Amino acid sequence: MSRNDDFCAAARSLLGERGFTTDPELVDPWLTDWRGRYTGRAIGMASPASTAEVAALVKLAREQGVPIVPQGGNSGMSGGATPDASGDALVLSLRRMNRITRLDPDAREAVCEAGVILQTLHEAVAPHGLRFPLTLGGKGSATIGGLIATNAGGTQVLRHGSMRAQVLGLEAVLADGSVFDALVPLKKDNRGFDLKQLLIGSEGTLGIVTGATLRLLPALADRVVMWAGLPDVRTARRLLIHAEKMAGDALEGFEVMPRHSLNAVLAHNPRARAPLAQPHEWNALIELVADSATAATLADRAQAVLESAFEAGLVEDAAIAMNDAQAEEFWALRDEIAPAERAIGPAMQHDISVPVASMADFVAETLPLVEARFPGCTAVAFGHLGDGNVHYHVLAPAGAPRGEWEATQGKEISQFVHDLVTQWGGSISAEHGIGQMKVGELARLGDPVHLAILRNVKQALDPQGLLNPGKLVPLAPAPASH
Ligand code: FAD
Repeated sequence: MSRNDDFCAAARSLLGERGFTTDPELVDPWLTDWRGRYTGRAIGMASPASTAEVAALVKLAREQGVPIVPQGGNSGMSGGATPDASGDALVLSLRRMNRITRLDPDAREAVCEAGVILQTLHEAVAPHGLRFPLTLGGKGSATIGGLIATNAGGTQVLRHGSMRAQVLGLEAVLADGSVFDALVPLKKDNRGFDLKQLLIGSEGTLGIVTGATLRLLPALADRVVMWAGLPDVRTARRLLIHAEKMAGDALEGFEVMPRHSLNAVLAHNPRARAPLAQPHEWNALIELVADSATAATLADRAQAVLESAFEAGLVEDAAIAMNDAQAEEFWALRDEIAPAERAIGPAMQHDISVPVASMADFVAETLPLVEARFPGCTAVAFGHLGDGNVHYHVLAPAGAPRGEWEATQGKEISQFVHDLVTQWGGSISAEHGIGQMKVGELARLGDPVHLAILRNVKQALDPQGLLNPGKLVPLAPAPASH
């Protein structure tokens, strides 16, 4: 029997037939990432049903020197949940651990296993008059464990922060198989480093998240969604400041998109309708929300924000969604940009951030630089202006062959964009993580002190380098222990 056969037999006897498989029909669909950029191979796929099973499996893997790739919904954007091509690693799926084990409406807390799907959580808390204040396009498959491991963002970060801000307690299995149990939600806890926060955003390289206590908020009593046409991106920044002043903490979302991206959505989806009669160079999608105490005044506040923005010359035209269906139509225009652009042709996509105060200038100044450097390409930026985070896409010249264009041009384009981001003091990964996609770019552009700390922490918590090897901060794999 080979070493791999030994491991598979031991894993199967530990987890049972439901908990471990090598059947290619069951495993193969999980070996390619959501974007279809990376495909790997694996010894097999484990699907433990409890924290105790995860811990026992990690101990077994450690004894036999088998690398582990944790996986949730496989909706990640950086190839973090895809094993490499060696076939040596085990995919550890958390999807069977999908119970909400406690929901406390008074404390506004939910305790979830790692495999709970985001949409399931939204639906489970709604009947209790509560909501979980983080959402994103992949909510039908993204899991709580994956959202924590990537410190996911989405469209409500402006008001509520990223996943980091939603986690009150955490449980994780560490590389030696021990269980770090910090599920109890302590508002104050100064017993040294915040290890919970260290694990959040560690992309499965420091531990396997098995459960979390999450904060919930009262459900919304009302919301108003507005669409504004703007002359340029710098005006979008001024409108954001204006909306923040006028609407205070009622401002829940502020997304921007250029004319090009809106046109792409309208061309891609014949049922989509432009919210305004005339096209504008830039568009802002603004959402104000209210809980029951302030709901009565929300429509007036929204009206006031727009009227004063008109008077200040910030807005060329605007529309307020008349009802929930129209509000959803406005949001759909935003959510459909990525698929619409994908339908047009190949593109290099970048998830970048710069300081919020610099973002409008960054977009205005760098898009022309990219287009000048790569003639025929179109550079667009859209998304979370209020978080200093845009999706910065460089679209191929018309007719460029898919696959071939990315292979020949992609690296140079991404390096050019990332160099610009670095010059502006920004980050080459705002919310999607490093995964395997940006390992080289992080090594090339990262501050040496930052990189050294990342590596030292990894070395301390996973000296054998068995947790998600090759991702985020690769260590040279240690030799197998036998
Ligand atoms: P996976 O893809 O399975 O894994 C992602 C990473 O986390 C991998 O490194 C994996 O090893 C690790 N991991 C997974 N589970 C665990 C665990 N239990 N313990 C330790 N490590 C683990 N992301 C945003 O931030 N903002 C967006 O607006 C956004 N929009 C999206 C829209 C669409 C249509 C799609 C498909 C995705 C979008 N994403 C977005 C990306 C994705 O949904 C998030 O990265 C999400 O957090 C991934 O969750 P997952 O369960 O699918 O994780």
